[in-house]
Amino acid sequence: MKKMAIVCSGGDVSGMNAALKRFVEYCMRNQIEPWFVYDGYEGLIDNRMERATYASVAGIITRGGTKIGSARSKRFMEERYRKQAIANLHARGIEALVVLGGDGSFRGMHRLTQESDLAFCGIPATIDNDIAGTEYCLGVDTALNVIKDAIDAIRDTASSFGRAFVIETMGRECGYLALVSALTSGAEMCLIPELPYDLDAYKRDFLKEKEEGRRYFIAIVSEALKKSETIAKWFEEEVEIESRVTVLGHIQRGGVTSVHDRLMASRFVTHAVDALIAGQKSSVICYNDGGFEEKGIDDVASNRYVIPQELLDLAREYGSE
Ligand code: ADP
Repeated sequence: MKKMAIVCSGGDVSGMNAALKRFVEYCMRNQIEPWFVYDGYEGLIDNRMERATYASVAGIITRGGTKIGSARSKRFMEERYRKQAIANLHARGIEALVVLGGDGSFRGMHRLTQESDLAFCGIPATIDNDIAGTEYCLGVDTALNVIKDAIDAIRDTASSFGRAFVIETMGRECGYLALVSALTSGAEMCLIPELPYDLDAYKRDFLKEKEEGRRYFIAIVSEALKKSETIAKWFEEEVEIESRVTVLGHIQRGGVTSVHDRLMASRFVTHAVDALIAGQKSSVICYNDGGFEEKGIDDVASNRYVIPQELLDLAREYGSE
């Protein structure tokens, strides 16, 4: 193999730059020319690619986001544009492409594997942690730490002022970030789409705790439920405490890459490049039970992620005495 490229697609995560750095260095070590594709599948269609060097990745390991840009691409849903993308890779003599992205990007990559003879390898990279077949996606740890800092800060003001804070976490349809954040920041309430909840039980709990001297509440609500305002109103009316909503939104995607994500970036990329060198054409690098494994893109792209039962069981204790 002489030339290999890397692309970041869909929602960016902190850790993509660390991945780019490892990609360039590990390709060089294997006598492979590393190439960057700019701005996701848009850059693939428009032939925006560049040969990468050590200088291209100097000093980027700490920075969130991605140096080569990421994008969503409507055009990529159409076969004629994917044909164009494949022709561009062929014309440059690029034989393999590493795709850092979420489930949408993997559906796109799945198409590429069906429509070309080039080799592709996916690295799960999304803060939503919602990719089937892997328990960890790059960027999740940094996002969780950003959320933790935000909740800790809100707790300071909530406790001083005696308020209920409803904190809405981003994470598409998946409640993973909300669940782990609630468990690790001592929140009093956690509402996610994966679990039923009983507001009457919460009310009984909260009124009792208020009587016993509790001055504030922290509620973590997944954006998927679209209920943050309703829950804030519920606190005012049912628990009789002033409430505020804080929507964390895109703040969750930024931030200095955590140690865990820097290391995971390096490990994911090493396994991806190794898989491509070994001749794999359509795999995704998955992380489970402390180790890495290759899974077929057809499996990963056509299944749904489920939160591990053990974590869900922990969250079940919310809202029940
Ligand atoms: P993420 O990868 O973070 O989940 P998206 O869901 O927006 O982000 O997907 C990223 C891009 O992947 C889309 O903008 C589109 O170009 C491509 N994509 C998604 N689904 C498909 C599909 N079924 N066929 C081809 N390309 C797709």
